[in-house]
Amino acid sequence: MSIRASLLLIGLVIISVCIIHSCDPSETTNTPNLITAEDILPHLEELSDDKYMGRMPFGPGDKMSVDYLVEQCKKMGLKPGNNGSYTQSVPMVEITSTSTESMSITSKQGTKEYQFGEDYVIHCQKTIDEVDIDDAQMVFCGYGIDAASSGWNDFAGIDMKDKIAVVLVNDPGFGGEDSTFFKGDVMTYYGRWTYKYEEADRQGAKGLLIIHETNSAGYPWFVVQSSWTGPQLGLEKESVQNGADIKGWIQLDMAKEIFASSGQDLSGLIKQARTPGFKPVELDLKMSTALSNVYKRDASDNVIAYIEGSKNPDEHVLYSAHWDHIGVGTPVAGDSIYNGALDNASGTATVLAIADNLMKQETKPERSILFTFVTAEEQGLLGSEYYALNPTVPINQIVANVNVDGCNPNGKMNDFQIVGYGHSEMDEIAAVELKKQGRYVLPDQEPGKGYFFRSDHFNFAKVGIPALFGEGGYDHEEHGVEYGKKKKAEYTAQNYHAPSDEYDADTWDMGGVVQDAQLYYNVGWNLANSDVWPQWNPESEFERKKNLID
Ligand SMILES: [Zn+2]
Repeated sequence: MSIRASLLLIGLVIISVCIIHSCDPSETTNTPNLITAEDILPHLEELSDDKYMGRMPFGPGDKMSVDYLVEQCKKMGLKPGNNGSYTQSVPMVEITSTSTESMSITSKQGTKEYQFGEDYVIHCQKTIDEVDIDDAQMVFCGYGIDAASSGWNDFAGIDMKDKIAVVLVNDPGFGGEDSTFFKGDVMTYYGRWTYKYEEADRQGAKGLLIIHETNSAGYPWFVVQSSWTGPQLGLEKESVQNGADIKGWIQLDMAKEIFASSGQDLSGLIKQARTPGFKPVELDLKMSTALSNVYKRDASDNVIAYIEGSKNPDEHVLYSAHWDHIGVGTPVAGDSIYNGALDNASGTATVLAIADNLMKQETKPERSILFTFVTAEEQGLLGSEYYALNPTVPINQIVANVNVDGCNPNGKMNDFQIVGYGHSEMDEIAAVELKKQGRYVLPDQEPGKGYFFRSDHFNFAKVGIPALFGEGGYDHEEHGVEYGKKKKAEYTAQNYHAPSDEYDADTWDMGGVVQDAQLYYNVGWNLANSDVWPQWNPESEFERKKNLID
């Protein structure tokens, strides 16, 4: 980090801490430890029970999960959050695209056929039966970024109508020396494929092909191949319906070959694409392919409830946790139910316990507190996206989001990892509460992997709501850092998205779950009793009251 950036950061911390301290000091007094393991465990055990069949949206456990959550909200006395109802229906569409022929690329040197799966994967996000692309002009559009605020436009001066954009994965800062240029190795939202898909729609392109490269993507080709083959669930959105016909990925070797056939050198173009002032390059290439679509519509539910604020009821603190998981799948050791105890029965149970304890307080919070249990996170953060696009209260009256996706089952920790550390003043607010717990902040340990963009708070960030998203910790109170790291790695290797993500009283140490639940409670409670509006830091690509894109 440059000296200037460090000074800026120190300045920000001082300003932020001042903001926190300038208001009523009573709001940051110690909150007694209220939440116990007994508040969380019954919900955790219930929702991760085999009878919920892995809580797959549209699956046999869908209605059962939603009913359970509604029943709990009613029992606690929470108010229904959606016009008198505890549920918000989330309409979704499942599209299965079949590539009906290979992809042919024509240059001056002739036409070459490429094979689906091996060389490329494409799909269509629109509810149309067939896509036929006939000799469409291909254009190299750098990283596929149009970021007005930073004066960067990879589509400068070109009309993408009827054209196919070929773009690089990640962002121009990745792998460079300058940590202030697109945040260097820290992934910005512009580096995510989801952003590139959305930008292609906005540019009115006919299609988008992202050049896969393992190091920049962070995962090998087979992940791309398996993720984009078979049914894809999404929201039916106008922006998508009016957007690109095909989206997908091509292998690096295919990219090198077709660029060479048009007389271009990919590595030279990559250099250009990393230089300010880059202009899109029309390639001497035409692409033809076709696919057919089968689609069906279905709906699942977000569960929404709230506590009405006593003084500023129109201002809301938003808690979120996704209730869904991935259902029933390939058996592992004779078990085919993917229970998702940690992911995310634990987060759902935590938010229920927070709500219950808030309801039991004699004093009501000054601001309202909103609880959203969202669906279809595992299918692409769809329930939270739907909520962000169809909010039950105005977005600019939501103060902040605390999102709970997974808890720490390894016992009490001295630290607490903030994912996406550096984005907003939620970092400092969490730090104040952590200090009271005798803990310290651990910044995002893998900022290059873009985990900040991979859970529900991200959809709230996109519409301007600052969020706290944590990941337990590593520094175990009794056994230290190595132990904490080992336990975390064990979960990822053995239980992440596996049937063995189950609650086990013998191996789970609820101390850490309770500790983090209390932290989330304190952050929400203090925000709800203050007039603080946490802000995004200037370096963040997100802004208040504004869509990222506006
Ligand atoms: Zn999750």
